Amino acid sequence: MIMEYKVAEVLIPENEIAKRVREIGEKIGKDYAGKDLVVVGILKGAVVFMSDLVRAIPETVNVSLDFMAVSSYGDSTKTSGIVRIVKDLDSSVKDKNVLIVEDIVDTGLTLSYLVKLMHERQPGTIRVCALLDKEERRKVSVHVEYKGFSIPDKFVVGYGLDYAGRWRNLPSVHIVEVLEQ
Ligand code: 5GP
Repeated sequence: MIMEYKVAEVLIPENEIAKRVREIGEKIGKDYAGKDLVVVGILKGAVVFMSDLVRAIPETVNVSLDFMAVSSYGDSTKTSGIVRIVKDLDSSVKDKNVLIVEDIVDTGLTLSYLVKLMHERQPGTIRVCALLDKEERRKVSVHVEYKGFSIPDKFVVGYGLDYAGRWRNLPSVHIVEVLEQ
């Protein structure tokens, strides 16, 4: 049997994402007004969200950017539970306010590992921001302070999220449909 995949219905359209990103940016602006904030994007999925998000944070917050890359699903839609640091931060976050930005929280394994790892670097504060949350799939609890949307247990792509490296460039979030031939 040959499995083919295609992007199907739009789950969250571009304009709804933009509205929610503005709201989260304003909230972050209030919470960190007059403070420094290191926004740590988790490559590659969070890049599109992060680039919109940081521009929605007002200039009253002194924002700097850093990135981490962790190994994730490869070409499969199943979680492996294995998290490996592929790229680490460029600068020390000791005593700094850190905001980890993720594309999606699924089982929570990736984020809980990253939060634990970040704690070891002794930042002043750590918070998490995720665009999407598949709450019903959670295996370990993680506190997400800034959340975009809760979504059902479907594999999604677009707005930075990929399937086998594809579809990150779609402006909306779509559900992936499996076609069996
Ligand atoms: P977790 O460790 O929470 O199970 O998985 C988090 C990571 O799995 C995300 O950063 C993302 O890379 C990947 N992931 C989970 N669900 C989806 C999904 O529906 N679509 C895509 N493209 N990636 C997902």
